[in-house]
Amino acid sequence: MNQRHFANLGILIVVAAAVIFLSWLSMNIWGSNKVETVQLISLQYNKNLTLKQFAIENKLPEKVVLRIFNLKNTEDLNKTLSDFPVNQEKLLTKTNEALAIYAESLSKNWIKIFVKFVLWFLFLALIFVLILKNKITPKNRKWFYLVSFVLFGIILGSDPSPMGTIKDAVTLYAMHHVLFIPRFIALAVFLFMVVSVNKFICAWGCQLGTLQDFIFRLNRNKRDTKGLVKQYKVPFAVSNSIRIGFFVLFTVIAFVWVFDIVEYIDPFKIFNPKVVNVAGWIFIGLILIASLFVYRPWCHFFCPFGLFGWLFERFSFVKIKVKYSDCIACDACSKACPSTVMDTILKQNKTIPDCFACGSCISVCPTNAISLSSGKREKVPEGKFDKK
Ligand code: SF4
Ligand code: SF4
Repeated sequence: MNQRHFANLGILIVVAAAVIFLSWLSMNIWGSNKVETVQLISLQYNKNLTLKQFAIENKLPEKVVLRIFNLKNTEDLNKTLSDFPVNQEKLLTKTNEALAIYAESLSKNWIKIFVKFVLWFLFLALIFVLILKNKITPKNRKWFYLVSFVLFGIILGSDPSPMGTIKDAVTLYAMHHVLFIPRFIALAVFLFMVVSVNKFICAWGCQLGTLQDFIFRLNRNKRDTKGLVKQYKVPFAVSNSIRIGFFVLFTVIAFVWVFDIVEYIDPFKIFNPKVVNVAGWIFIGLILIASLFVYRPWCHFFCPFGLFGWLFERFSFVKIKVKYSDCIACDACSKACPSTVMDTILKQNKTIPDCFACGSCISVCPTNAISLSSGKREKVPEGKFDKK
């Protein structure tokens, strides 16, 4: 290890400690609404009980009982169970499903979520305009990442996040057989963002994504073209295979063993340090250290939204495009690109890895041949680049 390694490690420790401490402080101010889902194994049942008595006997909130019987009016709680002929096993299942939805809904701070989405739209719109004007420079980009993870992570917390929408949708369905509609609305909004402007939400809005990007850029030269300590571009076939494998494993384990493996290592919990366990801290530490040398390791190797976002990216209306008549094939953009994606865009390989719309390629291009713009990508002129 040389001096640069130690300097990087020192900065990383300071950043991580600051994120953990400030997030802990922020969580104490906001308070945590985390509500554990209760699973009942039996019910106190007598068909002469009113629904109100049924709620008391089974220690169920009235809202849960209303949901079980599809009722809106609290006056309906005076009806008796005999008014709702249902077999007891089915009633137990419906009760557990209603309890899971109730816990999920109680654990949300809806004001915070609303504020977060509004700020996401405003912040992403600002960055979009800056990229269009080629105003994101190697100097100021770190500040934007810093603002993003401070605002959307430290201040507004680990949830919601693009990753959480997919992870929690899978686990809620696998473990409690319920679909939590607000999660799907959030997922639809995030995927709509991907279809609109590439992976812009991941690039500039995701609290963990921007934290990893910030750390990665700390280990870059002044022009943001290469690592101060060597950085590696992992072949996409390798990272994506691991990511697919991880998603399959997580889904199978959730359905078969009713166990959520991501919950134990979820690196988004750095923004909610009170709930991180030993395995979680080890994993978070490894992800942060790896971020110095590999671009967004969690996004490329593990993130379920990273995977789904990548699948939807090909339909993106606005994306990174090259004007080949202006391109002098100097390769500056693919060298500056933190992953292998620019190389595949230039040469029009069939599989294009995740493009995080970071704009590094735009700012290094000496002829301004690269843009973040709408429409299809141009076809590469024959012979301009050697096909891989
Ligand atoms: S891929 Fe990265 S940036 Fe996108 S949701 Fe996952 S962690 Fe966040
Ligand atoms: S450098 Fe360009 S191609 Fe590479 S990830 Fe950033 S925006 Fe995408």
